[in-house]
Amino acid sequence: MRISDDRYSRDRLRLDLALRFLNHGARTHTIRAWTTLSDDRIRKLYSSYVRAANGPPRHRGKSPQQVSFFTRGAHAQHETGILASFFSLLGVVPTTRLADAVHTLPSLARGERICQAFELFTAVFPAARISFEHAIFLVTALARGNEIHYGRCTDCTALVVVDRLTLQETRCLLCARGLRSC
Ligand SMILES: [Zn+2]
Repeated sequence: MRISDDRYSRDRLRLDLALRFLNHGARTHTIRAWTTLSDDRIRKLYSSYVRAANGPPRHRGKSPQQVSFFTRGAHAQHETGILASFFSLLGVVPTTRLADAVHTLPSLARGERICQAFELFTAVFPAARISFEHAIFLVTALARGNEIHYGRCTDCTALVVVDRLTLQETRCLLCARGLRSC
């Protein structure tokens, strides 16, 4: 493959990922971080392909920053556990902790896998509370590992997300409500 071809296909991958992020309602600074496209290109991409096709509106303001969103309440924990399981299956979260996850985590390949995981997740939970921006934040927080981390349900060993500050036993929603059949 010639260098120009390689450059072309890399640029194409960037645009494809940016479009996928835009259709999930990602914010501009998130798309910039994961694709390295300029704000101007992201804006043009949005108006040409997303707004023109009546896609989701552009979201502004800060991205989520509170990990308690994922661990407060049984329903939030349940949704988070399912999404985190898809991340685990698709190898989205590195196995070693990353102190500077915000800067070292983004890559085109990982961004694609996050989209795949989020698309599987929204197929299971069409009315999920966890937005795409929350999904990105969850990956980052799990990779950093200082506030939340992967754990196992104490009864059935299902994958759950555990708050490091919580010392109580961790059980998945099904076990906590006695709904697990075996
Ligand atoms: Zn369980």
